[in-house]
Amino acid sequence: EEPERLQKKIANAGVTSRRKAEDLIRTGHVTVNGKVVTEMGVKVDSHDHVEVDGVPLTPERKVYYLFNKPRQVISAVSDNKGRKVVTDYFKDIPERIYPIGRLDYDTDGVLLLTDDGEFANLLMHPRYELEKTYVAKVKGIPDGAAIKTLQNGVELDKRKTAPAKVKVLSTDHAKKTAIVQITIHEGMNHQVKKMFAKVGSQVEKLKREQYGFLRVDNLASGKYRKLKPQEIAELR
Ligand code: URA
Repeated sequence: EEPERLQKKIANAGVTSRRKAEDLIRTGHVTVNGKVVTEMGVKVDSHDHVEVDGVPLTPERKVYYLFNKPRQVISAVSDNKGRKVVTDYFKDIPERIYPIGRLDYDTDGVLLLTDDGEFANLLMHPRYELEKTYVAKVKGIPDGAAIKTLQNGVELDKRKTAPAKVKVLSTDHAKKTAIVQITIHEGMNHQVKKMFAKVGSQVEKLKREQYGFLRVDNLASGKYRKLKPQEIAELR
């Protein structure tokens, strides 16, 4: 979007006439990105946040991204140990986004980021039973009883996990490892690792391959794309 003069932007938003908008600016009623602007001729574009008497000019346009999180990246906007964080991959966008929930440092795969707090809270709410599918490489091949236990739910942090779908994709008996796909509904801290630990398997590698209906098959590691309006609507 082309930058335009502040008074024109206010007038175009239907707040008032261009003349009256100039008066509002001159008399200190208008802020741009939180700062009062009283001089004429300041230019703004769609990324500038304009308020008249504390009321945003236009409803904020929220942004929603689907990201293929690499391993060795923190699901946060900053890290006190200076490690790479997910927002390092979004340096070219103006919005202040943050991850919806978290994937462990060493887990890769589907992660959503947004600047829409309401949407983030909705999706992170424990009662919001969005399916998350993981593929885990585990040490210690789970037997039939272990699979049943994972499916029925295990006790974690004094709570029982909801029934899960579990499918052994492959096993390597020489190395005592298995590749297991597991679909869970909650997002407790380190949930998948803890669930496998409960049945005697140790997660060596973990990928989130699906979040709701969203996958990152067509996104290289570290790449993102905007969600389509239709996809956002379906997640709500
Ligand atoms: N479960 C885990 O243990 N780790 C993750 O990153 C996600 C789910």
